[in-house]
Amino acid sequence: SALTASQIREAFLQFFEERSHRRVASSSLVPVGDQTLLFTNAGMVQFKDVFTGREQRDYRRATSSQKCVRAGGKHNDLDNVGYTARHHTFFEMLGNFSFGDYFKPEAIAFAWEFVTKRLGLDISRLAVTVFNGEKGIPWDEEAFALWEKQGVATDRILKLGYKDNFWAMGDTGPCGPCSEIHYHQGNDIPCVEEAAGRPCQGVACDCDRWLEIWNLVFMQFERKEKDAPLIPLPKPSIDTGAGLERIAAVVQGKRSNYDTDLFQGILATVSQLCGQPYTQETGASQRVVADHARATAFLVADGVQPSNVERGYVLRRIMRRAIRHGATQLGLKELFFYKVVDRVIELMGDAFPELRESRTFLLEVAKHEEEGFRRTLDRGLKLMDEELAKLQTSGQKVLSGELVFLLHGTYGFPWDLTQIIARERGFDVDLEGYKKLMDDQVSDPGLTTNSKASGEVFHTILNRVGTTTFLGYDGEGHEGEGSVI
Ligand code: ATP
Ligand code: MG
Ligand code: MG
Ligand code: MG
Repeated sequence: SALTASQIREAFLQFFEERSHRRVASSSLVPVGDQTLLFTNAGMVQFKDVFTGREQRDYRRATSSQKCVRAGGKHNDLDNVGYTARHHTFFEMLGNFSFGDYFKPEAIAFAWEFVTKRLGLDISRLAVTVFNGEKGIPWDEEAFALWEKQGVATDRILKLGYKDNFWAMGDTGPCGPCSEIHYHQGNDIPCVEEAAGRPCQGVACDCDRWLEIWNLVFMQFERKEKDAPLIPLPKPSIDTGAGLERIAAVVQGKRSNYDTDLFQGILATVSQLCGQPYTQETGASQRVVADHARATAFLVADGVQPSNVERGYVLRRIMRRAIRHGATQLGLKELFFYKVVDRVIELMGDAFPELRESRTFLLEVAKHEEEGFRRTLDRGLKLMDEELAKLQTSGQKVLSGELVFLLHGTYGFPWDLTQIIARERGFDVDLEGYKKLMDDQVSDPGLTTNSKASGEVFHTILNRVGTTTFLGYDGEGHEGEGSVI
């Protein structure tokens, strides 16, 4: 029978350990000492300074399975979740890294050996991409030749442009071309382009037919100043990332990440709670709930609290999006979200002990957020119904910034939730107007209640749980003797 996701994770790390890589633990979802980044969104994040040479380690090859969140900032996959078979807010990225050690020949040989030999993926379903050359940067002839040398048919080596196949750490710093490995999931899968009357773009398409499973970045250049020409690095480096959920899907012969063992148990719980069977066709809301429960569990375990600012607000948006799907789409009348979070802890606690260690706290945070949001959710939805009906009669299509602001301030609706609901009914929202009202509020010190509110939430939870370190917890639903801050 097929490998489980846990077995795949272990097989990957072992494969690279056998090839002299140091196994490095995942870093926190909250990047340490990096104010530029909302959440850790790739395996390389914890090695940034090693790549630039600012930091030295006693190893030059590393491998990891990194917890990642892409729900804000540069990579924001939140809107896709539930609606593609391959995007999550939280996912695990497997990676191998060379810090000025090996380069393209080894990176390509390792990746091809792992997918074709160790995982035994069907070669006839695989394709790879190389950088086609753009913006005065030459095309990656070297990578093309190396894939050919591995036996990849030339018509399965496709050239993609800057957007997909060139990577840069920022405006300055290391950068270079990429090669991606894609897996053909089948042409009978619906394609967004075809639905719009255009041809499917194959490996470059936004649809689920060709699934990108692994991205190899060849850091071979450096940019000293913004827009300055690229200088070749004397010691090029390798950074790769492969999504565990996607690898699990292809290894387990599934077309959707949600059909793998990583999600089946969670979806079974969601399905049981709402009394509706899970199916690919009708399961968007169930997928949203399952995905967001994972993100919630992992983010809270790494110290993020739902709040109205910064990271906390991204988490709040994730949680409220899930709660609203549960309440209105799945008909869940009672508090449910903490139960799904608990199932995540149960299923993933072996691989991630931090989930089990803070279980009580995670459940309280989930419960508290849902209780708070449910107090205003129905009234907020009713208000929206009325406003949308008014717009309908007057032939207007855009919900005012004032209403988005009111829903945010009084009913706890994050702006994107209002936008989602409005769009579901064929309306848009005036985000500019909303942002202006928010800015005015922030510049008036008498009205800044946001951070205060988040502090209150935290204290309420603290009072209930009594501790932030839950080591003394007896696991029976009673409060333990942990230290109180
Ligand atoms: P896509 O084009 O499918 O959005 P990407 O090119 O943005 O993926 P990379 O930044 O190259 O992704 O990340 C490396 C790998 O991480 C991808 O090849 C994929 O396997 C995985 N991955 C990226 N984003 C997600 C996500 N939102 N959910 C699950 N896996 C992901
Ligand atoms: Mg992406
Ligand atoms: Mg891509
Ligand atoms: Mg990619």
